Amino acid sequence: MQEAKAASVGIVGGGLAGLAAAVALAERGLQVELFESRRCLGGRATSFEDPETGELLDNCQHVAMGCCTNFADFCRRTGIDNSFTNHDRLHFFGPDGKRFDFHATNWLPVPLHLAPTFMRLSYLSIRERVGVGQTLRKLARTQFHRKTEEPSIGQWLRANRQSEQAIKRFWEVLLVSALAESLEHASLSAARKVFVDGFLRARTSFHLQVPNISLQGLYDRVQAWLEARGAIVHLGASVSSVEALQDSDQLSIAVDGTRRRFDSVVVALPWRRVGDVLPPERESVAASATQIQSSPITSLHLWFDRELTDLPHAVLVDRLSQWVFARSSRDRRHPDDEHYYQVIISASRDLATRDRADVRDEVLDDLKTTFPAANDAKLLRWQMITEQHAVFSVRPGFDKVRPAQRTSTPNLMLAGDWTQTGWPATMEGAVRSGYMAAEAILDSRGISTPVVVPDLPVSWLSALLGMAP
Ligand SMILES: Cc1cc2nc3c(=O)[nH]c(=O)nc-3n(C[C@H](O)[C@H](O)[C@H](O)COP(=O)(O)OP(=O)(O)OC[C@H]3O[C@@H](n4cnc5c(N)ncnc54)[C@H](O)[C@@H]3O)c2cc1C
Repeated sequence: MQEAKAASVGIVGGGLAGLAAAVALAERGLQVELFESRRCLGGRATSFEDPETGELLDNCQHVAMGCCTNFADFCRRTGIDNSFTNHDRLHFFGPDGKRFDFHATNWLPVPLHLAPTFMRLSYLSIRERVGVGQTLRKLARTQFHRKTEEPSIGQWLRANRQSEQAIKRFWEVLLVSALAESLEHASLSAARKVFVDGFLRARTSFHLQVPNISLQGLYDRVQAWLEARGAIVHLGASVSSVEALQDSDQLSIAVDGTRRRFDSVVVALPWRRVGDVLPPERESVAASATQIQSSPITSLHLWFDRELTDLPHAVLVDRLSQWVFARSSRDRRHPDDEHYYQVIISASRDLATRDRADVRDEVLDDLKTTFPAANDAKLLRWQMITEQHAVFSVRPGFDKVRPAQRTSTPNLMLAGDWTQTGWPATMEGAVRSGYMAAEAILDSRGISTPVVVPDLPVSWLSALLGMAP
């Protein structure tokens, strides 16, 4: 591999996008300096300290899927891949609390590998199950033309005569949590991506990867990995502008009253912050960022006096609570007589006008219907966190306003989950964008080396059925 040791790269933003760019470039011998305004790395995928115990808890349980090839690569490279537990079974609970384990069969080729388990979902009528199967096939075969107006997935499902019950009990369950957007707002193409990449292209693509230490614990190791390769990580370093220099090809980063010069810069900020630092000639990027809307995610952190379930997670069908996660890591500081669960509600706009205690009570009712032990359990304490700008909203036409990682300045790149990756707001999208920015920097320096990892291969039958991306 060619190396360009002399080249310096400044990275603005220490979320997963910035970290991925830093890892890819530091590994290839570039001098990397990363500036993060907060006192910790990780951005929106972050941890906080439980004031009661001092334990680190994640703001929201983050999970990856088997189809997240670049995120997996990032974890492998930095040595944090051993801090994830792979789940090849998803535990669904129907509206009446009946449990269904969603898993693949080995005896059927992809994409039929999930059909037997799907056909057992008795909270859908047989007619609905058949209808969902046919509609899934149609969705996977739908091709998009950038010029035509795209409907929302909700509009499309109704036009394809999906019953309200099938929409509530199947489509919403998988899509709202994957896209963090309601079906009325989410685009058809984003929904298609979830099913094609997440369920229909490869046998393991739906597997769930859940960190078994806190997110902060992962970043501590990534930071150590970077520093061992000569990268410098500045925390609490808020960048106020990035500008092209008149006297050279370099760019300057203004941070804490000083100006630093770099051969290349990656701006890895969220869409709402990018306009704060980019120079006026980058207005088009800032303007496209202003067209992007946010979608909220709410997490309820609940401590009980007893165990509710021995399952690591549960997907609740047709309930306010969408996903329940049992503690994935046990911190030494955590008292043995407390049992911690997280309940996730994505696209939680409707909660804004509701009383928090009222939301908590509905969640507790959901848990009681799902786990008998919850009926006798005492809630010791609880916390509700809503990230109003958790993710960008994957509205129809959204892909048209996403900027590419390359800007018109050859040595200035963008990264961030919201940039053009084809992915919804995910850790995979963030890492992919960072890798794409790194690849573009290497390319601009005449170093041709692939950084982005390919998707999982499409199964022969999926390809034959026209379900390829
Ligand atoms: C509640 C919630 C739940 C989620 N669940 C999942 C999930 O289960 N699975 C999944 O794949 N994804 C999930 N996501 C999405 C995922 O967290 C994001 O897509 C990803 O973390 C975005 O990374 P990023 O680097 O693009 O942006 P960010 O994480 O926003 O990083 C940008 C960084 O830039 C820093 N910054 C801002 N301004 C400046 C400045 N002026 N100078 C220096 N630094 C600055 C910020 O502090 C931040 O650290 C979830 C997100 C949220 C909020």
